[in-house]
Amino acid sequence: MNLRQLFLQHIAQTSPAPIGLEMVKAAGIYIYDVNGKKYIDGISGFSVANIGHSHPKVIEAVQQQAAQYMHLIVYGEFIEQPQVAYAKLLTEKLPSTLNCVYFTNSGAEAVEGAMKLAKRITNRSKIICFNKSYHGSTQGALSLMGDEYWRNSFRPLLPDIHHVDYNSQDAIDAIDNTTACVILEPVQAEAGVVKPTIKWLQAIREQCNKHCVLMIFDEIQTGFGRTGSLWAFEQSNVVPDILLLGKALGGGMPLGAFIADKRLMDTLSYNPVLGHITTFGGHPVSCAAGKAALEILMENNWINEVEIKEKILVNKLHHPQIKNVNIAGLWAAIELQDFETTQQVAHQCVVNGLITDWFLFATNCIRIAPPLCTTEEQLKAICDIVIKSINEVYSKY
Ligand code: PLP
Repeated sequence: MNLRQLFLQHIAQTSPAPIGLEMVKAAGIYIYDVNGKKYIDGISGFSVANIGHSHPKVIEAVQQQAAQYMHLIVYGEFIEQPQVAYAKLLTEKLPSTLNCVYFTNSGAEAVEGAMKLAKRITNRSKIICFNKSYHGSTQGALSLMGDEYWRNSFRPLLPDIHHVDYNSQDAIDAIDNTTACVILEPVQAEAGVVKPTIKWLQAIREQCNKHCVLMIFDEIQTGFGRTGSLWAFEQSNVVPDILLLGKALGGGMPLGAFIADKRLMDTLSYNPVLGHITTFGGHPVSCAAGKAALEILMENNWINEVEIKEKILVNKLHHPQIKNVNIAGLWAAIELQDFETTQQVAHQCVVNGLITDWFLFATNCIRIAPPLCTTEEQLKAICDIVIKSINEVYSKY
């Protein structure tokens, strides 16, 4: 059997049509396949490679830490310098109330931890979340999933989960003194890059304050500069009680985190003791990689340049077959006619050397989220490939 056949046989499949390219190398914004063909990573490995792939300083941090020590003990027992140093750096870049980090293995585990923390603190169970939101695939996080199609086969899921529309008055009205937390993305990713109004976010914050409800921001996709500021919430001046990070947090290594005030976080250490246990969460190699990646992000001017690059997306993404484009920073959802067309255009983009995809709840939209280090010229080339691919797909009709 060749590698492709072995992949289909032995690697659990989650879709009938995986992209299925055999990749052998990645550097900067490029990924190379086994035949030497070069692709632009137009989605940053789903919002992970914000500083690009294989940055030499990240590789060095990984190698050094791997040589020193890897896993030693379950989370939180030994003092592990890479964890402490990364938590310090992260909290220096956050408002003073977000001062204590719980590192996890993944984004979904961060969501799980945050939901538990909210229940533990408030002694309430009602959780408000949003239609067309994705927060992860574990059963707690899946309970929050914003569409019954994905939830239904896995019921029973968590009770007392209330789905409401993003940006709606219903969401504000649903928050009451039985609510533990509201969990939301400051820009809804999988809905197709949907922004809320600042007024709405502020109203949610006020209602949470009024009823002593915890406000949780999932910045697993929006974090690390994607929308033009380090954290998307900076653009609204609304500070959450708990912040969720993942994806780019690990600089290419697996890492998630939920971050809150230490007074809140301390409740995980009693009644019960060990309120959240993880073996590999905050792995020292992941923390070393993540810290190096954040330092690289801060040393460069990439976040400031997002505004100019956003304008390039606005100016270049025009075509008679494009129905609409939602943009938030270096992040776009390009709406086409339907899922079938979107699939064909995404496939044609790959043929033309651009990796892209669609969105879970916006299957008629092409996803564009290249690394923040993408130059203006490279970004124009990305837009040109999308337009060319649309033309090629339509020329076949
Ligand atoms: N939250 C958001 C907004 C995400 O986009 C994702 C993953 O795509 C998650 C949570 C779950 O993260 P992970 O895949 O690391 O469990």
